[in-house]
Amino acid sequence: MDLASILLSLALLLLVAAIVLRPLWDARNSGQASAAPQDRSEIEVLISRREGILAVLLDLDFDYATGKLETADYEAQRPQLIFEGVQVLKKLDALDTGDDVTSVPDLDERIEQAVEKLRVGQPKSNGRLCPHCGKPVNPGNRFCPHCGKQIAPVVETAG
Ligand SMILES: [Zn+2]
Repeated sequence: MDLASILLSLALLLLVAAIVLRPLWDARNSGQASAAPQDRSEIEVLISRREGILAVLLDLDFDYATGKLETADYEAQRPQLIFEGVQVLKKLDALDTGDDVTSVPDLDERIEQAVEKLRVGQPKSNGRLCPHCGKPVNPGNRFCPHCGKQIAPVVETAG
């Protein structure tokens, strides 16, 4: 075997190695690159679903409160929405923290709290809300009766 054929077989070997290893290399790189964004976009989808469910829940509560919705309809639709919300929260928790979802305290309760938070955030209330816990407080209060934190008193305008 002369030098030329040794070099030729070496070159051939390198070429074969490149062809064989290239897909593996690509797969590994793209696999690493796409794993995180995929998770993130799934989280974004879940978050937007959660927001959507909360908005529908809020609408449902509002329609019921204003008499636009029959009690039977309300009672039929609400648990279904809560259930959907809980499913979304479970998935979110699993993706977000990797924690055991069974350790999460009452998910129904969390949905209810989220709806409550949205509700108190609505401008329909003419009362004051505590900046710390979001619960209604009297305008003259210096301390929140719910969480006990200090709040700046408001000077009531006459009229
Ligand atoms: Zn408070």
